[in-house]
Amino acid sequence: LSPPSKRPIRELPDELVSQIAAGEVVERPASVVRELVDNALDAGATQVTVRLLAGGVRLVSVEDDGGGIAREELPLALRRHATSKITSLADLESVGTMGFRGEALAAIASVSELTLLSRTAEQSTAFMLEASSGELRPAARSVGTTVEVKELFFSTPARRKFLKTDATEMAHCLEAVRRHALARPDVGFAVWHEGRLVEQWRPATREQRLADVLGEDFVVQSVEVEHRMGPLRVTGRAGVPDAARSRADWQFAYVNGRYVRDRVLTHAARSAYEDVLHGQRNPVYALYVDIDPARVDVNVHPTKIEVRFRDSREVHQAVRHAIEYALAAPRAGAPVLPMT
Ligand code: ADP
Ligand code: MG
Repeated sequence: LSPPSKRPIRELPDELVSQIAAGEVVERPASVVRELVDNALDAGATQVTVRLLAGGVRLVSVEDDGGGIAREELPLALRRHATSKITSLADLESVGTMGFRGEALAAIASVSELTLLSRTAEQSTAFMLEASSGELRPAARSVGTTVEVKELFFSTPARRKFLKTDATEMAHCLEAVRRHALARPDVGFAVWHEGRLVEQWRPATREQRLADVLGEDFVVQSVEVEHRMGPLRVTGRAGVPDAARSRADWQFAYVNGRYVRDRVLTHAARSAYEDVLHGQRNPVYALYVDIDPARVDVNVHPTKIEVRFRDSREVHQAVRHAIEYALAAPRAGAPVLPMT
């Protein structure tokens, strides 16, 4: 082989391009869960069922009752940069769906054995597409979509080696569903592992969903957050200082329904607790920021877990004030017991 600098420039084959892209989007089974549940919600699902084998490494299956994918569009759904969610840059600026990059299914299919099973309301039967062979055949199911992802990273052993134990991968998968469940209380979720039902959340109000997912204690030991600054809204619940935890694992933040990890929001929340929380303990909260989509860029990171606010000071202030107000308001109810 000649030294790298002397080799000719070549366009990479599609498959390899997808495998490289998969490195950014698909880190572990939980990433597959996240992407597939995003798609189910974008399709208007009211019920999402996740089935896992071996922590999702052997199987992640996500079943929804959304609008489905038409037979003739099934192959397109697996193509890179193929999406039904945006058609222009203007659309991207006001995007209201979880997806828009059109790369998740292509990326996942390039590092697993993926099958799509779907039926639209116009079709009298469902169709199944096997990604590896391209085989398309009639199948049975009601309106909606099931995506099955088997043997994740079977063709990329280097990646597979980085996976942790099934129990750890399972915990990450559950966390991914939990994040969605807190964003969409109107949707029912069920999670099965190795044939056993491990979680089930029925459609509920937001407060009830918070109690179902995080426990009654979270609701009892938190105050309602409700703050408006023009079109910017911050709602949710913030834990009382006594509910703080040693780990920062109960800090759920959403921007326009999307779970995010954002330094502006984390910092704003932390500042709101400055005077009431001491030491190394971490506040708990579930915060929902609703903002004009044109004032936030969600196309910052392939997994969209990071966002960029056009005016981060405005958002910081709104979140900080929202929590400070909520914590200062007198609370009705029983005396607070420390949370375990
Ligand atoms: P994106 O979500 O960014 O559009 P994906 O690769 O995740 O890209 O999906 C590609 C396309 O396949 C979507 O735009 C959508 O039209 C279709 N699709 C994927 N999953 C579903 C689903 N569960 N129900 C209906 N359509 C789906
Ligand atoms: Mg998607």
